[in-house]
Amino acid sequence: QARQKPLIRDEKKRDSKTIARSYHLPPTTNLSTHDITGPTLHVQKGNGIYIYDDEGKEYIEGMSGLWNVSLGFSEKRLVEAATKQLNELPYYHLFSAKAHDPAIDLAEGLIKIAPWASKVFFANSGSEANDTVVKMVWYYNNALDRPKKKKIFSRIKAYHGIAVGSGSLTGIPKNHADFDLPIKNIYHTSCPHYYRYGREGESEEEYATRLAEEFEKMVVEQGGAEECAAFIAEPVLGAGGVIVPPKTYYAKMQAIVKKYDMLWIDDEVICGFGRLGDMWGAETLDIKPDILVSSKAISNAYLPLSCVMVADNVYQVLVTQSKKHGVFAHGFTGSGHPVACAVALEVLKIYEERAIVQHVKDVVPHFWEKLKTFEGHPLVGEVRGIGLIAALECVKDKATKEAFDAGLGVGAKVAEFAQTHGLIVRNLGDSIALCPPLIITEAQIDELLSRLSKALDDTLEWVKAKR
Ligand code: PMP
Repeated sequence: QARQKPLIRDEKKRDSKTIARSYHLPPTTNLSTHDITGPTLHVQKGNGIYIYDDEGKEYIEGMSGLWNVSLGFSEKRLVEAATKQLNELPYYHLFSAKAHDPAIDLAEGLIKIAPWASKVFFANSGSEANDTVVKMVWYYNNALDRPKKKKIFSRIKAYHGIAVGSGSLTGIPKNHADFDLPIKNIYHTSCPHYYRYGREGESEEEYATRLAEEFEKMVVEQGGAEECAAFIAEPVLGAGGVIVPPKTYYAKMQAIVKKYDMLWIDDEVICGFGRLGDMWGAETLDIKPDILVSSKAISNAYLPLSCVMVADNVYQVLVTQSKKHGVFAHGFTGSGHPVACAVALEVLKIYEERAIVQHVKDVVPHFWEKLKTFEGHPLVGEVRGIGLIAALECVKDKATKEAFDAGLGVGAKVAEFAQTHGLIVRNLGDSIALCPPLIITEAQIDELLSRLSKALDDTLEWVKAKR
């Protein structure tokens, strides 16, 4: 009955919750809860690191949206760049060797900040970029007449997207169960989280060695160099819980990838563009990629954009295949969308002119000095992260690291209390992720952490009441 009557949004009486419940199928949401309660937050405006809901309440966006709005929510220069491009050439495609200034200029700009790469392919999302990578790896090995070399290795708890290929690379059970993923030729090795999976008495170094040995065993079991094609990794695992691997882990993993003549795919969708304190996570953690994937902060999320950057050794093989078989038959209607590219070009200019990466380096010591004090909180088992990305893991017992019963929803409760205190964070299970806009100041960091502290205290009281 209610659905037959159109719901008009007028100034005085709007029922946005009903409208949302009635028509919208939201992404990554518990649909049954949404059907009853509607949206958990109705966002209306943004300004700097803040967002405002439909009642005018202010929140610090402690997650930069979905780890992506690194320059904040009111960057006028990006609006102007988009508007200018919309007026000049709102769309054109790049199929069959077409070109336009925004795409070719952005490709040049990206190679300048990732000089080890030689070419850039554009897509619209991290998922599309990683699906592109899967296909590129297969295309690459077809070009080299290695038809069996198709297996790609990822990690448990990795997040690489949700499309069929990228969703298979993702190593989070919820993204697989019920969706018939992963597809074949995708394998997952262990998640490098020492706090959770390091053994009693095992040093971080020994743990890293164990993981590398385990990975090598898996590669050998799967046919070694003949069948194993690539390894994909986020420098810091993001959606899986903000996990920074042990120091020597990447050196050991890279040695194995090299030994079996595999490609290293570096998923910098979150870690790129200054998040870890350098332009790329690969610089911070000493990773030498053959293929690098970027998205999110590349356009400050104002428009969808992603890219796949390939090193020359990879590109030359793609060219060889094209010589034999003609067209590289892969591309999206929106590949290199001129408006998104124009925005991203302006992002690059802003990074340079305002020294955004240097700003991150400058505020990071303050962020970590303050954040480390949360180790003393009765709920917090581990404070982890690097640069301006972090997570606080809530545990039932700090001494034994015993986790709370997942059904209790402690992490979700922290996020909920944070919201009441004017802070947006994201709970990944019982880990509370922080990924604030990179433009955050030290005073704003203090305000963010003070709101978080209130949320943790409220949650502690709530947990006590449950006991
Ligand atoms: N890779 C990583 C590391 C990500 O964090 C994400 C998104 N959170 C993706 C890929 C997928 O990006 P998208 O949601 O744009 O498809």
